[in-house]
Amino acid sequence: MRSARDIAEHVNSGGSAVQVVEEALERIHADTSNAFREVFDQSALTSAAEIDRRIIAGESAGPLAGVPVAIKDNICTREGRTSCGSKMLEKYRSPFDATVVTRLQDAGAVVVGKVNCDEFAMGSSTETCHFGPVKNPADPSRVPGGSSGGSAAAVAAGLVPVALGSDTGGSIRQPAAFCGVTGFKPSYGQVSRWGLVAFASSLDQIGPFTTDTADAALVFGVLRGGDPNDGTCEPSPAKPCQIKPADLKGMRVGVPIQATTDGNAKSVSKMMAEVRDQMSKAGAEMVEVDLSLLDQGISTYYVIATAEASSNLARFDGIRYGHRAHAPGAGPDELMALSRSEGFGAEVRRRILLGTYVLSAGYYDAYYNRALKIRRMIRDEYLKAFATCDVLISPTTPSTAFELGGITDPVEMYLCDRYTVGANIAGIPGISIPFGEDEQSLPLGLQLLAAPFADEQLLNAAASIEALRDQAGIRGARNA
Ligand code: GLN
Repeated sequence: MRSARDIAEHVNSGGSAVQVVEEALERIHADTSNAFREVFDQSALTSAAEIDRRIIAGESAGPLAGVPVAIKDNICTREGRTSCGSKMLEKYRSPFDATVVTRLQDAGAVVVGKVNCDEFAMGSSTETCHFGPVKNPADPSRVPGGSSGGSAAAVAAGLVPVALGSDTGGSIRQPAAFCGVTGFKPSYGQVSRWGLVAFASSLDQIGPFTTDTADAALVFGVLRGGDPNDGTCEPSPAKPCQIKPADLKGMRVGVPIQATTDGNAKSVSKMMAEVRDQMSKAGAEMVEVDLSLLDQGISTYYVIATAEASSNLARFDGIRYGHRAHAPGAGPDELMALSRSEGFGAEVRRRILLGTYVLSAGYYDAYYNRALKIRRMIRDEYLKAFATCDVLISPTTPSTAFELGGITDPVEMYLCDRYTVGANIAGIPGISIPFGEDEQSLPLGLQLLAAPFADEQLLNAAASIEALRDQAGIRGARNA
């Protein structure tokens, strides 16, 4: 399958968008990974025909002309349902499109459907999805990661060149690593969250899954820019993002001590050694960085994220929104309790309980306030690190994709995000790029982080490492 750049160029120079979209729909219908929740055959073909008409009429069709795109099930689209992988919103139809969806469409992209995710984006395996787990295209007995597992699988299986996901603690980067594709989480405030069903509003960001960094930059250029509907979005106007691979010679590359010590799978440590070796051979200056708070990340995240989730998910009461239990004669409190018990899965209920607890009067200072203080310390530690290096590298995940059903202990599942939560806590940009595979041919992911709003610098560095990887003949993206 071609990259988004190639498709847009093909369509902009007279190739048929309808044909591109028809082929994508055919692949999607033949897929067995359960990546797609819903396919928009009719509206996708209508949009593609409109793009073809525009091009024939000599009008411009945009930088993503005819590019088939899949949207995570927690991002609102007027077409189809926005279920967030939950029984609670199984039948929910959004009356509006998220800003990111409108921007993609204005740029000529064709939304071909919605893709499955962990329930309300809570998970690291897409197994909490009410509509069944998604299989990893690299090995169908394994999870695709999560929560944006459907987005990662859709790109890795070559169904679409671009999918949108959301990342609250790693949900773009971790599944990208597990499936062998590129996943980019922009800085907090670069991309509008309007129309993203909120999980933890101070951590959530939307970003693209692609097969390489140049496509991630192309999509990011379309998505970013101020939005009057999202007050946390930096107000500067949208502008395209052009990749200029950075010079590795003299680039200061930070490697956290904590990322190369114990706890990583052997194949992951081997990948890190290989990356360091290649980068220093290419002239990069490798800097040792002490992120002493790295291991406070998961606990800090699980206080802040659950606190915000307990508040955000309060709206799903079976009365104003969401699944309503069949309970004739029940009063409002009972109806609400029954509806929420039926509508939410076990992981979501666990988080609501945890979040409610850390915000309760007796524990607010001990947990929530303390987590906020540690959050600031973590951010400061990253800012300090970026005074000594241009980018930080680490594995995206401590291991490669695990078997479906292989992790049942919630805390073990949470630890998948050891390397990713820091970027959300600090609000900085992060990207995972494929970098080879383990002894079982499962993809390995390399994470790069940069300072707040240094998103372009991050993408340029990722593009250079990608080139280095390709020169060395190391396996890059999957898109079968
Ligand atoms: N795996 C993490 C969690 O379950 C992150 C999820 C996300 O980024 N949406 O909370």
